[in-house]
Amino acid sequence: MTRHALLALPVTALLALLPLAIARSAPTALVAAHVIDGRSDTFSSATVVLVDGDHISAIGDRSIIPAGAEVVDLGDATLMPGMINAHEHPLMYTSDYQNALLSSSSAYKALMGLAGLQRLLLAGWTGVRVMGDADVYYANQDLRRAIDGGVFLGPHITGAGHYISITGGGGDINYLSPEQTVHPDGLIADGPEEIRKAVRTEIKYGADWIKLLVTGAFESVGDDPRNIAFSPEELRAAVEEASRHGVPVAAHAHATEGIKQAVAAGVRSIEHGTYVDDATLHEMARRGTFMVPTIYLGDYYAEPGHTLRAQDKNDEYIKHGRAAFLATLLRAHKYGVKLVIGLDLGGMIADPAVYAKEFAVFVEAGIPPMAAIQAGTRVAAELMRWDDRLGTLERGKQADIIAVPGNPLNDISALQRVSLVMIGGHLVKRPGVPVSLAGMLPAPATH
Ligand SMILES: [Zn+2]
Repeated sequence: MTRHALLALPVTALLALLPLAIARSAPTALVAAHVIDGRSDTFSSATVVLVDGDHISAIGDRSIIPAGAEVVDLGDATLMPGMINAHEHPLMYTSDYQNALLSSSSAYKALMGLAGLQRLLLAGWTGVRVMGDADVYYANQDLRRAIDGGVFLGPHITGAGHYISITGGGGDINYLSPEQTVHPDGLIADGPEEIRKAVRTEIKYGADWIKLLVTGAFESVGDDPRNIAFSPEELRAAVEEASRHGVPVAAHAHATEGIKQAVAAGVRSIEHGTYVDDATLHEMARRGTFMVPTIYLGDYYAEPGHTLRAQDKNDEYIKHGRAAFLATLLRAHKYGVKLVIGLDLGGMIADPAVYAKEFAVFVEAGIPPMAAIQAGTRVAAELMRWDDRLGTLERGKQADIIAVPGNPLNDISALQRVSLVMIGGHLVKRPGVPVSLAGMLPAPATH
C-alpha cells in the first residue's frame, strides 16, 4: 500500500490496520540439557533460552517459558552462541584460487560465495570476517549488502575487499611470464603513498577492515612466508590511514620480524603468526592484539586428495612447523593473548562440517575446550567489534544461537554436528524440519 493510499483511508480503517502492524509472533523457547553462554568457564545453570523477535528476552529454567510460546525441545543437546569464523575467503571456490580468479567473473564468484556462506550458516557459523578475497571487484561487499538487506539468508559479514600486497608478494600472481599483464587477486601497493591510496580505495568500496600481507604466504606461488614484504614505514602508513577512517587493520604475518613490526605499527589482529616469538606474544598480550592462528588449514592440505599449487610449502610446514606452532598457541593462551578461531579454507572448497575442526586443534594444543569455544564466539565478536550485540547468550543480545549434540566440553567434535541454527531470531535449521534458505524479505503483496 502506498503512502498516498494510506492517507486516503478513513481513520477507522487505519486503526483497523494497527493490530497487524504491531502483531508479533509468539516467543520461541529453546530447551536443552546445557547452555554455554560464551562468558562463564562452566555450563550456565540455565536450560532454556527464550527468544522474542530478533533478540534473547530471557535465560533460565522452564519457569520462564510463557504460555503460548513455541517450545523447541532439544533433549540432551547443548545451546551455545553461533560460531564466528574470523578468517575466511568466501569467493575462493577451488584450491587453485589464482587460476579461478583469472577464469571466472566476479559475478560467478559472488554466486559461489553466497552458496558457500549459506552452507557455513547451516553448519552453525553465524558470523564471518572476510580477509580479502580472490576477486578484482568487491563481491563480498555486495554479498554483505544483499544479506543485510534481507534479500538472502546468510551469516553476518565484515571484512576487507582485498589483501594489500607488495609486487611479487602473496597477493600477486607470480607464475606468469613478464609479458603478461593481469589483475592479480591482491591489491598491489608499493611504498607509503600507494599504500595510502590502496587503503582509501578499499574503504571507498565498502571494506570495513584493511588486510595487509605483511610477509609471504603458504598458499601462493613464488613467495616465502619467512620473508617480510612491507617495511615498517609502509606498515605505519597503512595503520595511520586506516585509523583516520576508524577502520581496523589485520596483518597476515608468518615471519617473526614481520609480526613484530606489524604489532608495533598497531594492527588489531595478527593472522596466522606461525613463527611468532615469546617477546612478541607478551607484547600482543600487553597491547590486546588479537591472534587468529588458522591452524586447521595446514592439516586440511596435508590430507590425501587436497592439493595446493604451492603444496611443497605446506608439506614442509607439516613436517617441521606444526608441532612447534601448537606449542606456541598454548603459550599464547597462557600469556593472555586473545586467540580467535578462523579457518581460511575458502567458500566451496571444503565440507562445511570440517570448519569446526579448528576448535579441535585448539584443544589438541592444550587449550581448555571452553576457552576454545569462547575463541570462536565471545572473543571473535570482540575482535569484530560486534560484542555489544553478538557472541554471547545473554538477555538483550541478538538471537544467534546454535545447538550441538551432547556435551562439547567432553567431545569438541560435537561442533561439527550442529543440529539447530538460529540467526537474528530466524530458525534456519532445526531437527526434523527440512532446511529453508528463503530470503528474509516479506512476501510480496498479492493484490
Ligand atoms: Zn587467508
